[in-house]
Amino acid sequence: MNRILAELADQQKVQDMIANHEPFMDILAEVTRMVARQMPSAVVTFMLYDSSDDTLTLVAGDGLSDAYKLAMQRKKIGPEVGTCGRAAFLREVVVTHSIADDPNWDAYREAALKENLKSCWSVPVMMTDDALLGTFATYHPKPGSPDDDQLVLITRAAGLLAFALARQQDQRALRIQRQRYQSLFTYHPDAVFELDLNGCFVAANRGCEHIAGFAEENIIGLHYETFVKEEHHEVAGQAFKLACNGIPQHYEVVAYHAGGDEYLLEVTNLPIVVDEEVVGVYGIGKDITRERESELKLHFQRTHDLLTGLSNRAGFEARLAEDYRLSKGRVAVLLINLDGFASINDGLGHTVGDHLLQAVANRLADGLEPGDFIARFAGDEFGVLLTDRGRVEHTLPVVEALLSLLARPFVIDDHVLHISASIGVALGRAKSRDDGTLIQHAHMAVREAKAQGRNTWEWYAGDANSSIREHIALRRELLDAVVHNQLVLYYQPLVDARTGKMTALEALVRWRHPERGMVPPGDFIPLAESTGQIIDLDRWVLRQACKDLHTINAGRDEPLTVAVNISPVHFRRNGFFDEVSQAIEESGLDPESLELEVTEGLMMAGTEKAIELLQKIRNLGVKVAIDDFGTGFSSLSYLRQLPINKVKIDRSFIRDIAGGRESAAIVEGIITMAHHLGLEVVAEGIETEGQRNDLVNRRCDMLQGFYFSRPVPLEDLLQLPHQLPAADK
Ligand code: C2E
Ligand code: CA
Ligand code: CA
Repeated sequence: MNRILAELADQQKVQDMIANHEPFMDILAEVTRMVARQMPSAVVTFMLYDSSDDTLTLVAGDGLSDAYKLAMQRKKIGPEVGTCGRAAFLREVVVTHSIADDPNWDAYREAALKENLKSCWSVPVMMTDDALLGTFATYHPKPGSPDDDQLVLITRAAGLLAFALARQQDQRALRIQRQRYQSLFTYHPDAVFELDLNGCFVAANRGCEHIAGFAEENIIGLHYETFVKEEHHEVAGQAFKLACNGIPQHYEVVAYHAGGDEYLLEVTNLPIVVDEEVVGVYGIGKDITRERESELKLHFQRTHDLLTGLSNRAGFEARLAEDYRLSKGRVAVLLINLDGFASINDGLGHTVGDHLLQAVANRLADGLEPGDFIARFAGDEFGVLLTDRGRVEHTLPVVEALLSLLARPFVIDDHVLHISASIGVALGRAKSRDDGTLIQHAHMAVREAKAQGRNTWEWYAGDANSSIREHIALRRELLDAVVHNQLVLYYQPLVDARTGKMTALEALVRWRHPERGMVPPGDFIPLAESTGQIIDLDRWVLRQACKDLHTINAGRDEPLTVAVNISPVHFRRNGFFDEVSQAIEESGLDPESLELEVTEGLMMAGTEKAIELLQKIRNLGVKVAIDDFGTGFSSLSYLRQLPINKVKIDRSFIRDIAGGRESAAIVEGIITMAHHLGLEVVAEGIETEGQRNDLVNRRCDMLQGFYFSRPVPLEDLLQLPHQLPAADK
């Protein structure tokens, strides 16, 4: 009983040693002691198996001579190789009762007998998966075989050794693996770090110090947000949260370096999963500042012209494609080609040429508005892209402005240079997806412009519909109209609502076209506005009306006033005020007799400047009326701010007044409010007696319309009775 207890205690001790990862040789010594206690006369040995050459080597054998130990190195195993070689080969216990008589010992018998080894019992030491680790054996000074207890003892001893060896191998494999990953962590050039679930640093590799300037010991325990720019806390926070939920993340943030500098950090967050549970987050950070900068630089170089710093053609094309898509084709492409640049370049040298191009680029850029886009295509060729709705609708004024901008002399390196340009225009078409041909069309138009003798523009009309063609033709002819006296003024009376007396006139322009006959203003005023020709036209009307009124009033007791329509394009132009005062001066007209009709839309754009100008005009004594009131965006209360005398209710409300309750209410409202503000109210488009009566009842001040008189030429006007409608109406 005692023996069994002692054996158990021995075994327990060995198992404890194994659990504590004590060195194998110590465990082997303990196992040897354990066996030796039961078999005091035995020599206990262990031979280690090497599968690479299928050999056994004696590693432990207290009591054996060095010569014997030396002899037992790298012995090939086999069915006839001693006791251990055979046990190893058969993977089973082998008992040699008498070494002296066993033919398997022929080769070693002599050496064994010299050591006084007479019998040998050997047990293979095996892993659970049948892999051989070695042999455990006892040698005895007398021939003999083990009894059952002895067999159990040596088998158990071999089992313990197998267990110890297996544990050791596992341990070693684990250590190797851990060291491997540790190296990956430590030496990785990126910043690699581990965060706990609160976002605080648990570990940081050398890369962190290299990239962010923080050594591991300085950041452990800190929150990652400490190093991320405030604006990017949300991005980083989102990613961190997702990573905590097991979803890897990849993103960019601006981070702080230890020195305070900012840099662009590309971050990967990976969940650390242990037993199917996220226990933290790995971070991998890469400084991509330089990379991004060179990307941007490369992109800039690819899309820009280095001489002027403007976009190049590639940049222009990219922008065009984008804007075309966004605006559904509502864009204008202007191609500007300098006239005579080659001769400057050849005559004065390339340096002057380059400086001129830079000056042209600057001047063009200054002359454009923030939404416009400009590029240098090549040589002396520039492209401009208009996308702003208002700019596209008034492309031609823009083009004309650019032409006159470039016509101003340049002073380059002590030379005064005069150049001009030819501009080709191509308009995108709504619903068409084709932005690619626009530049090509603009090119064709430039060639046209050049052919026309330069310093001019041309519009691409290749496949334009006939109405555009017509407009283009009309534009040409309109140029002649002013010069060749084809414009005529008609006058339409305005009558006092109470008395029916004619008190004022509105000047309405007509175009007496040599082939088309009388062209109504609706057909050419919008065109003239879009080409900028309206300015000459309005100027002519203003002067002519002032002159005519002089003639008209000469034959009257009570002088009439004349109203002239002013286009917003004209009104906004510098020098408009001077034109008005000049027209008055020239004609000798009493300024009180002149009235300007402007539209609400004009007020909306650049209100303050417009109000200022109106005030200046009012100060001259000239009156101002808001035309077509009610069609624009302005509210009635808005009128309060304007220095005006009159509102003209738009025709459309008068037309609808009988049927539409809404129109009636609007008209009623306008009249009440205007009177409240001390303004006169005119109703235009009175065609029937009913309409007249209605408006008289609503206390409208003045009336205008076919019911009283159509617009008529000056001669006819002079024949009209002073009281309207004429008796025969
Ligand atoms: P507007 O300023 O509203 O001019 C009144 C228009 O209504 C005139 O058309 C006139 O003939 C028309 N009209 C007058 N009474 C009646 C009526 O009882 N029934 C109908 N159906 N129409 C009536 P017009 O002469 O064709 O002029 C059209 C527009 O052209 C004008 O509208 C004005 O905006 C513009 N316009 C005319 N002359 C000039 C000008 O010299 N300079 C500028 N900038 N614009 C002008
Ligand atoms: Ca008018
Ligand atoms: Ca009107």
